[in-house]
Amino acid sequence: MTDSLRGTLPPVYQPLFGQFFDRPKVVETRATCDNCVMCDSGQPSPVPMEYFRSDTKCCTYHPQLPNYLVGAILADPAPEMEEGKRRVREQIERRSGATPHWLNRPRKMSLILLGYGDAFGRAKSLLCPYFNGDDPAASCTIWRHREAVCMTYYCKYTAGKRGFDFWVSFKNYLWHVQRTLVRFAAQAVDPTVVEPAFKKHQLTLEDIEDLPPKDSDYAAWWKSWVGREEEFYVRCWEWVKSIPQRQFALNVDDTEAGKGYLGDLVAKYEHLQNRILPSRLVRNARMSEQHVGDKVVVTTYHRYDSFALDKDLYEVVGMFRPSETLEENLARLEAEGIELAPELIEFLYVTGVLVEPGARPSSENVDPATLKAKRSALAAVLRARKITIDTRALEKVEKAGVAMLDQLIERAATATTAAEIFGEEEPGATSP
Ligand code: SF4
Ligand code: SF4
Repeated sequence: MTDSLRGTLPPVYQPLFGQFFDRPKVVETRATCDNCVMCDSGQPSPVPMEYFRSDTKCCTYHPQLPNYLVGAILADPAPEMEEGKRRVREQIERRSGATPHWLNRPRKMSLILLGYGDAFGRAKSLLCPYFNGDDPAASCTIWRHREAVCMTYYCKYTAGKRGFDFWVSFKNYLWHVQRTLVRFAAQAVDPTVVEPAFKKHQLTLEDIEDLPPKDSDYAAWWKSWVGREEEFYVRCWEWVKSIPQRQFALNVDDTEAGKGYLGDLVAKYEHLQNRILPSRLVRNARMSEQHVGDKVVVTTYHRYDSFALDKDLYEVVGMFRPSETLEENLARLEAEGIELAPELIEFLYVTGVLVEPGARPSSENVDPATLKAKRSALAAVLRARKITIDTRALEKVEKAGVAMLDQLIERAATATTAAEIFGEEEPGATSP
């Protein structure tokens, strides 16, 4: 199992996830986390780099822990989990983001995270509370039970863009799992607890002042579990652990939303393993470029994976025509005395220098089937929650890309009205 995708999962998922997860795991060798490749170790660089801090690395992020993973951390008897447990307990005691579904980040931080791209990896004030900078390895104290974003983030990908797309898809599937299981688990442990629905982009006085929620609000969410939150989280973990695999499949994978997420994940995995090339390719018009001597430093699908191309090669890829197939382009170039080896074409594609004509950047670069699957998933969630939407909301759905559709599905999963999904209210703790 150690070489399979299943073996990379947090333990609570391992007996639950379907057969697909028995396939070989995807190993990212370019993200050298123990000796972080994004930190300055004197490595050569063709352009000035803005390195990450070695005492934060990429953990300038505050995770959103599902109730059952909090329980898994608290119940884990391994000595190496002691520090993680202590830190989780500290968050719970401070009532910081502690709700029946999640142990979440402070809501103020969610607003900061909307626009902090330039400070990612460098803002000490955003350091994750579970990151242990005192450890010589500067490591995560809850690693074994980490959540969807932490499980799937890499700064660089061995298989380039195919790898990036796979991990984004994996994250989306895990988010679907988390959203579904937190609700079922909380409901099973105590149907009277209430997950708060916060107003979108609006903070309470307590949020702004870094204070715990009002006692009355907190008691309304937690009911008889106030002061016993740890026990509640552990009970959620025990409940998830006890689900039969077929029940998990029925409620998570076999729902319309689940089929969309899992189908997309399997497709991205196949794409990565089978090294499928599109039939037409052109130079990526959206990549950012820095011309330095006889090199062009380009950034394509991922801001932390820039690299230098020879200027000659950069010019040659500019000669690819969208009106011609890949074979036709290569034949024309060969007739002009320019021969490009298949390995080079493969490299240019996985690094995002060559893209399909009209392709959109990064995670928006998806085929229509994916968009259709996500729209169907949203429709299914809306139906299940008996929420009808008006024409304006329908237009929004039609125009939405993958990221927006994912957000809408997430909001819909806990919403009771269309306004919570498309309007002013937000489902607070559930937003990624
Ligand atoms: S994934 Fe994070 S810790 Fe690992 S090498 Fe990249 S920036 Fe460093
Ligand atoms: S939970 Fe762990 S991996 Fe995730 S941001 Fe915190 S320290 Fe990093």
